[in-house]
Amino acid sequence: MRTLIRNATCVFPEETVRAHVLLDGTRIAAVDAPATARADEIVEAAGLHLLPGVIDDHVHFREPGATHKEDLRTGSLACAKGGVTTFLEMPNTVPPTTDRRRLAEKLARAAACCAVNYGFFLGATPGNLGELQAAERTPGIKVFLGASTGDLLVDDAEAQERIFAGTTLPIAAHCEDEATIRANAARLGGGRVVADHSRIRDHEAARRATRRAVELAHRHRRRLHVLHVSTAAELEVLRDHRRLVTAEVCPHHLFFSTADYARLGTRGQMNPSLKEREDTEALWAALAAGAIQVVATDHAPHTLAEKARPYPESPSGVPAVENALALMLDAVRRGRLTLRQLVERMCDAPARVWDLAGKGRIAAGYDADLVAVDLEREHTLRDAEQVTRCGWTPWDGVTLVGLPVRTWVMGRLVCAEGRLDESVRGREVVFAHDRGGYWA
Ligand SMILES: [Zn+2]
Repeated sequence: MRTLIRNATCVFPEETVRAHVLLDGTRIAAVDAPATARADEIVEAAGLHLLPGVIDDHVHFREPGATHKEDLRTGSLACAKGGVTTFLEMPNTVPPTTDRRRLAEKLARAAACCAVNYGFFLGATPGNLGELQAAERTPGIKVFLGASTGDLLVDDAEAQERIFAGTTLPIAAHCEDEATIRANAARLGGGRVVADHSRIRDHEAARRATRRAVELAHRHRRRLHVLHVSTAAELEVLRDHRRLVTAEVCPHHLFFSTADYARLGTRGQMNPSLKEREDTEALWAALAAGAIQVVATDHAPHTLAEKARPYPESPSGVPAVENALALMLDAVRRGRLTLRQLVERMCDAPARVWDLAGKGRIAAGYDADLVAVDLEREHTLRDAEQVTRCGWTPWDGVTLVGLPVRTWVMGRLVCAEGRLDESVRGREVVFAHDRGGYWA
């Protein structure tokens, strides 16, 4: 199957120009094809921008164990609609992905049902060092440095040292200090209103755990990716560590602050919590400056019935995978960052952080994972249109300008104008972890 995408304005690594892009099988065959190149399908894309497919390296798709909220199939379809062509999923399913057998099971299930490309992190526990050392077919190790997620919590210092000292894969860390969280919760009687969530999971909890993770990475010369930075204080900790330590910000921490609790209620509850408006501004500035390298969603769906429980019984987490690109395109329009920066943070950087072979760029020989976007298209997000099984978005009612309109996965059109081709399947991501492990 050969597809010729004609006259799109293409965001290449070095320049943004109008070009004809030829896809052949699963690869990009040429980025400067003649307009008359032979193809089975010709797509006239004048007026559209062509970007590499988004790589969302932080999602929770709930399979196995909580498939009433989401599963690999519904999560991957939400990706396709939102312009996300590859996802990397986190290990805190039930049971958690903490050994090679469970990793292989997830990969087999994904091969059967996922509409986009996929990879799965392996979770660190205080006792699975041997599995982490022997692991293959994974982007890296997820460590919860003091977050309350059952088996996966690693909050004793010795176990943390063993993981950083004894493994070689890059590490993704959820950084919130458990002792600080417990002390705050005790002081607030466990919390009574959702705004207490930000007082319990406060700035200090984030700053402390991020500082400890960065210290561990330096002591052991390990590649570390700090997930969901939410505070200006963490940016201070991350400064000057860029070769070894990279960082992520999530849309909810960019677009919402504690001022939004009154409107969102528990729809605005996630871990780490929402912070102050000054933090939000600092995060946008760090993102534009490159001090934060990756935008990913931490897509963490719960049903509205679950979210409706009174705080603190309400679960933490929000869905975002199908709206993140549109939200960031709107931010480009408003001058928060450039389209080139968006592509670097959402496509190219995640591929380089996790050593994804053949992904993240529009270049000859790269995988034909692409998204065409209309920067002029106005669209109002609605709960009712969401593909995610949980069926809602914290951005319900928000009007954006800029929308993904066509998504290709490994050369096949999986979504056009919101219509999904349910026959398309993604592939297992290939990792090239022997490149040395430095961010450069
Ligand atoms: Zn997460």
